[in-house]
Amino acid sequence: MASYDIAIAGGGPAGLSAAYAAAQAGAKVILLEKEDSIAHSIRTSGVTWIDEIEKFGIHSDHYNPIRNYSFLSKSNQALIRGVSPKACVLNVRTAFQHLAMKAAEAGSEIMVRSKVTDVIRSSSDGRIAGLKVKTPKGELEISCKVVIDATGFISYIARRLGIVSEWKSYGVGAEYECYCENLDLESWVLMVGTEYSDGGYAWVFPVSNNRARIGVGVARPYCSTTNPLQKLNYIIDKRLRPIDEMGKIQPIELHYGYVPNDGPRTSITYDGLLLVGDSAGQVNPLVLEGIRFAMEYGRLAGKIAAKCLQLNSCKDDFREYDRAWKETNHGKMLSGLKVQRRWLRMSDNEWDREIEILKGMSVEEFLDFIKAEFYRFNPDLIPFAGLWKYYRKLKNAFS
Ligand SMILES: Cc1cc2nc3c(=O)[nH]c(=O)nc-3n(C[C@H](O)[C@H](O)[C@H](O)COP(=O)(O)OP(=O)(O)OC[C@H]3O[C@@H](n4cnc5c(N)ncnc54)[C@H](O)[C@@H]3O)c2cc1C
Repeated sequence: MASYDIAIAGGGPAGLSAAYAAAQAGAKVILLEKEDSIAHSIRTSGVTWIDEIEKFGIHSDHYNPIRNYSFLSKSNQALIRGVSPKACVLNVRTAFQHLAMKAAEAGSEIMVRSKVTDVIRSSSDGRIAGLKVKTPKGELEISCKVVIDATGFISYIARRLGIVSEWKSYGVGAEYECYCENLDLESWVLMVGTEYSDGGYAWVFPVSNNRARIGVGVARPYCSTTNPLQKLNYIIDKRLRPIDEMGKIQPIELHYGYVPNDGPRTSITYDGLLLVGDSAGQVNPLVLEGIRFAMEYGRLAGKIAAKCLQLNSCKDDFREYDRAWKETNHGKMLSGLKVQRRWLRMSDNEWDREIEILKGMSVEEFLDFIKAEFYRFNPDLIPFAGLWKYYRKLKNAFS
């Protein structure tokens, strides 16, 4: 049986960041990815924040910078212009494969087309002792001291152990990556209201010259009937705004995926096991973005797992990871979830009014808000009475 200190299930941004940090800290690491290559199937639109990803060595050759943020509802429109780009749209394949190269360079082993099929437990005390994996070299058993569950939405390891259940609320999205004849490379567009998504939103995210991701996301179970792919086809076929101004559109890739929308898991550490990324529910509920958390907490999970190898690798030893996540983000995520649940019930008219609020925001306020950084948010600039009170409550909670 091959033996490692740390086995990581899942080669998304969370697993790759954990592999890098754990190997960098001197641990013997293996990462197992079920698909044929890293970022083989794309399940994300790849929007994130430049300052966050530059910290992790993902530079401008892997993203398209975004300076302006446009919003459309049935009868309203807001454009928030920035001076310099703060957001970006990743070239997901090259960016995630760059993380894989960094992990390999740091000394981590990576096996693709290698699906974790089961967890091995010690016969003496029942503790996690390794993983069973179906690989191109045949069925392998891997022994390890710590497992990191970075399997994304499915939380494969934790579910297999019966310690977490399926997500009750989740987002499901369909997206085409398209050739677009006319594209404003510096601006993203978010579209809200029933025509675009009855319980979610639609988007146009420019990736590179004449290339954009156009998609639709819906929140289950709040919106149980809409099929996001059908809605996406409808938006493109009917040439709803802003598609009407984009000239010829030709899809060249179809992406489809699920993202948790329940808020963070109650516990993200167990004896011999850490959960990270989507598996842990580390997602900003306002727009269901998780890449930056996957990378940040992936790094931390890898580092702490390596540090705890001298100890027992039990739940208590991992408390630094647990605490860092909870103290910094847990509350923000829960507050973001409340705002999002309110959004899910809004009518087209209410969305028109909400878009009016955005027009009064500075770009800095808008970015803090959309990132769920409520504690920095200034509610005095918000004219819409109901929301004003709500944001004030949130601000008080974080001041
Ligand atoms: C439609 C859509 C659009 C999104 N857009 C954005 C966005 O614009 N910005 C943003 O920040 N976030 C976005 N997200 C969320 C974002 O994609 C996730 O938060 C992020 O990818 C989480 O990273 P992860 O590494 O935890 O999981 P994942 O990226 O899902 O990676 C998990 C990996 O584990 C592998 N795996 C699963 N089971 C096994 C197994 N048994 N054995 C081996 N390997 C396994 C999978 O193949 C996969 O490669 C979006 C999500 C969806 C669904």
